Amino acid sequence: MNLNVLVLPGDGIGTEVTREAVKVLRVVAEKWGHQLTIREGLLGGIAIHKTGTPFPAETEKLVMDADAVLMGAVGLPEFDNVAPEKRPERGLLGIRRAMGVFANLRPVRSYKALLDASPLKNELVDGVDFIIVRELLGGLYYGTPRGITGSGPEERGTNTMTYTRAEIDRVVRMGFELARKRRKKLTSVDKSNVLETSQLWRKVVLEIAPDYSDVTLEHLIVDTTAMQLVLNPKRFDVLVMDNMFGDILSDEGAVLAGSIGMLPSASLGAKKASGVWTGLYEPVHGSAPDIAGQGKANPFGAIGSVAAMLEYSFGLGEEAAAVTRAMEQVLNSGKVTADLRPSGTPATTEQMGESVCQAL
Ligand code: NAD
Repeated sequence: MNLNVLVLPGDGIGTEVTREAVKVLRVVAEKWGHQLTIREGLLGGIAIHKTGTPFPAETEKLVMDADAVLMGAVGLPEFDNVAPEKRPERGLLGIRRAMGVFANLRPVRSYKALLDASPLKNELVDGVDFIIVRELLGGLYYGTPRGITGSGPEERGTNTMTYTRAEIDRVVRMGFELARKRRKKLTSVDKSNVLETSQLWRKVVLEIAPDYSDVTLEHLIVDTTAMQLVLNPKRFDVLVMDNMFGDILSDEGAVLAGSIGMLPSASLGAKKASGVWTGLYEPVHGSAPDIAGQGKANPFGAIGSVAAMLEYSFGLGEEAAAVTRAMEQVLNSGKVTADLRPSGTPATTEQMGESVCQAL
């Protein structure tokens, strides 16, 4: 198969973790006989430095020509106090929009070797395996009117939460489809006791459900979900929710997995004629300026994102499973980066990447 991949390393540890993820991708291509073409582009702070904008037109063109995009992370402390539209993070909204990726999948699973790295009791975490599907292009983060107006006591901040039936329909169907391939349980998360957007959300979910009668559906209010994710995370298989709820709840996954550095993500758009999804793959974490350049970053979120790319964009389930098994093998050997608090000397970013390649 031809794997035509664009890599956007971004800023800080983004460059370090994508370097290791690309090594793993090269090993997979060689071992299974795939033709791999890798191009590299600019995104985020480095793109502002070199071109004056966080998502340059040239990067957009590269994105459109690629089958899948692997991204590191963006953000540099020097931009912390500039206006939102001039920050590296604006590049993220730009690329997501350009690719039309409307669903962000955040798989969370526990690894036996890392049970002690989670602050939760081992018996709660052991066996956790769920995916949060977060709507990515609508809701409170995009709705208008928005802004700050007026002055004095009347100064007012406004954001608008809005969803159309079509926006809800496509992301919920993705949730059902994923559940169908897993343990066949879908949890739809909303706040329908208070919000009209959630009432429409629930109505659409109920209308779609008969098309997926093999999947068990439950509705859960977002605050109850926050509690259940730490009280009984094993009850979940696939969860689907709006943009803001997904943004907030998916960080609870970091607690279950032991470190945010472990979490991969896949952002998917429309299905191609071949049946696979256009995808943007990135670790959940940011550019971590506090550890950048020190070889301390955990590359497993990025390597797990490569596994997701193989599965969703290229339909290579066997290769994806092999990457996951190789990661597990490395963890079982006791090798981990500093964020997972090893008893001995922590492994470096590069050592973790090399070990996964060897395990493969
Ligand atoms: P962060 O995820 O970069 O870091 C949070 C904490 O987790 C830090 O202590 C960091 O050292 C640690 N950490 C993160 N990833 C790690 C890894 N792979 N291995 C080991 N430790 C890891 O979040 P932040 O500090 O809030 O943000 C830093 C910058 O990144 C900001 O500019 C922010 O806007 C940006 N950001 C970008 C993205 C993205 O590109 N998708 C996501 C979140 C934050």
